[in-house]
This record gives sequence, structure tokens and C-alpha cells, in this order.
Amino acid sequence: MDMGVAAARVRRAAGGPSEAEVRADFPILSRELGGRPLAYLDNAATSQKPRQVLEAMRRFYERSNANVHRAIHALGEEATAAYEEARGKLRRFIGAASDGEIVFTRGTTESINLVASSWGGERLGPGDVVLLTEMEHHSDIVPWQLLRARRGFRLAAARVEDDGTLDLDSIRRNWDPGTKLVAVAHASNVLGTVNDVKALAALAHERGALILVDAAQSVPHMRIDVRDLDCDFLALSGHKAYGPMGIGALYGKEALLEAMPPWMGGGDMIRSVSFEESAWNDLPWKFEAGTPNVGGAVGLGAALDYADSLGLDWIAERELALSAYALARLGAMEGLALYGTAPDRCPVFSFNLGAVHAHDVAQYLDREGIAVRAGHHCAQPLMRRLGIPAAARASLAFYNTEEEIDRLALALEGASRFYA
Ligand code: PMP
Repeated sequence: MDMGVAAARVRRAAGGPSEAEVRADFPILSRELGGRPLAYLDNAATSQKPRQVLEAMRRFYERSNANVHRAIHALGEEATAAYEEARGKLRRFIGAASDGEIVFTRGTTESINLVASSWGGERLGPGDVVLLTEMEHHSDIVPWQLLRARRGFRLAAARVEDDGTLDLDSIRRNWDPGTKLVAVAHASNVLGTVNDVKALAALAHERGALILVDAAQSVPHMRIDVRDLDCDFLALSGHKAYGPMGIGALYGKEALLEAMPPWMGGGDMIRSVSFEESAWNDLPWKFEAGTPNVGGAVGLGAALDYADSLGLDWIAERELALSAYALARLGAMEGLALYGTAPDRCPVFSFNLGAVHAHDVAQYLDREGIAVRAGHHCAQPLMRRLGIPAAARASLAFYNTEEEIDRLALALEGASRFYA
């Protein structure tokens, strides 16, 4: 056994669960594909879900399923309690001040669209600037473009340096006084870069702007404290953080959410309705029109409990060890170009293998039972900045193993020979 692997196993034995214990929580990880064990290295697209999440959702649907907030029967009350309990778990998980600051949405995409439509729809106009970065996911670009077409403000993008970082000094120097909002990924889904959003928040506030943090890729990997970061909005997706699909949240500072108009109208978001006028419900329900994804919220709550039971520090440490191993293995491969070498990274590795198209690489790996993603990763402006049409991407979670990384490296060597 490689010395690095041995050291990691000893460390794990000393504190935290064993590799086998953690993997046993994720039934899907024991699948075989074409006779080969699955190596799931596509966690940045969506994480796998532990049985604790699946069981919590099953329990909800088997025992407590009913619509929320309106029912005067026992199941309705149980469902409402379960839904609001999940909100409380998320509030504590990200350190928000009150449950009113946690709006359940379908995920990061919907959360950013909510801010663009509701906050931006009233606050942005000619002369104003929304500052993005070159590493943004399309879901933090397109909602602003849709709004720009209606409101006529400007979009700017902070440059990504060659190592995949943002240069705060350059952002400060190039600051446009019309900037009203900085909308930035906490962690890049391509480069893995973890941006210093706390410093960006301080800069934005010093210049009278707000900051929205896209935390889709950071929440699964690190402890987030919205009050410490002092972000104004934060968007996240449950399905990337071991929870189910179709549930996520927008965090917003209470005073901001309070001042914003609803963005979708319908049941539950109102206090009263007449044909002449309607009045809005309190936070957060003002932003939750229609029947919410109660089962999904329950699953998300269970996912947060699960992450807490492992410990965010343990998760971060385990992923750091896996990342170091992956970097050593991939970094040593001839002809492999790795994108993003920032010192502070989450476990995402985008690469190209010589002139082989990323899709061919992914297909070759798939035949070996290794799941990676290939393409533009919903970050076409970043692909342009990197001067590549596409990249393959291996993204890790704490339940991956050094052995899977070895399989990836061996298969990449195979692909390199195959396509030579
Ligand atoms: N932002 C980033 C950085 C992402 O990686 C993703 C998902 N790939 C999103 C936003 C969008 O998340 P969702 O599809 O869950 O809304």
C-alpha cells in the first residue's frame, strides 16, 4: 500500500468513521457497472444520498404526508412541523439569525433567479452594474442577463487569474462606482477555487454594494457561517450536499428580504386576497408560493444531520487528504493538463488529456465503471477564458477512496494509450 494511503487510513482509524462504515451509508456506491465496481467521481454535479436521507423521506411519506400550513388535522400538523423543523436545521447549519431568513427553493438556480427578479427587478436600472466573475456558473449569469434586458443595467465580470483565483486588489482597482451587487461563486465547479467571499463582502459593503454568494459547490465541503461571511444573499442546492433533488434555499438578510416584493404569486404567500388587492405573508413564506417540496425539505434536514454527525471538520479533513492524493496522482501524469491550482480549493479536478476530446475521455472512463463529467460544465465564459472547448472533471466527496483515484489514474493512462 502507498504510504500516503496508509497514513490516511491510520488517521481515519484514530478519529471518525472508517471508510467501510461511511460507504455502507450510501447504498448506490456498492453498485457494479458492466462487472466493474462503480467509482462515482461526479459529486459536483450531484452527490449521492445516504440511507439516513432516504429513510427520513420514506418515513415522511409513509407516516406524515399531508399539505403544510393550512390543515387542521394531525397529519397536516406533523407535515408542517417536519417542514419547519427542516428550515430550523438549515438555519443553524449556515448560522443564519432567524428562520425568516431561510427561503426554501428548488435549488441554487431558483434562489438566484428569485434575487434577480425580486431584488434586482426593483433596484437595478441604467447606470448600475452587477459584478460577476469569469468563473460563474450559467445560473449566476443568465438570470442577470434576462433582467438586464428588462432593466438596462450593465454586467461586468472580474478576471480569473491563470492559477484560477480572483485578484482582490484588481477587483478593488477596477471597481465601478455604479456597482450595486457582487454575485460570486463561493467555490468554482470547474477550477475548485474557493473564493474569499468574506473579503469580497467587506469590499462590496465598503463601496455600498451587496453581495450574493453562490454556495452550490461550497456547502457540501465546508462549514459556512453566513453571519461570519457577512453575505447579503446565499444560494444553495440540497442535492449537492447529500440531500434530495428539487430542494435548496436562499438565505437573505432579514431586512433585505423584508423590503423585497414577492416574486411568485399563489397560495401560502399571502395574508389576504381580494380582487382589488392582496397582502403578503410574513417571511419566509412570502417567497414560498404554492405547495412546497416538504418531503425534499425533510430529506435535506436529514442530510444536514448526517453531515453534522460526521462533522464538517472531519469531512473537510478527509477531502483534503483525498485531494492531496488526487493531485499527486494526476499532477504526475504526462500529457494531462489540470485547470486551477489555487491554494484554497474544494475537491474538483478539471483536466484534458492531450488532444483527446473530454467526451472521449469520459466515455473511456465510463467503460471502466468510473463516472466523471465532461463538457463546458455550464461555465462557457470560463472555458473561453481557459481557451478550451471542454474539460473532463473528477469531483470527489468524503466517501471516495484512494483506490478509486488509483483506478482513475490507471484508466487515464489507458485512455492516453488508446487514443494515441
Ligand atoms: N452554481 C454552481 C457553482 C454550480 O456548480 C451549480 C450546479 N452545477 C449551480 C450553481 C446550479 O445548481 P442547481 O442546478 O442545483 O440549481
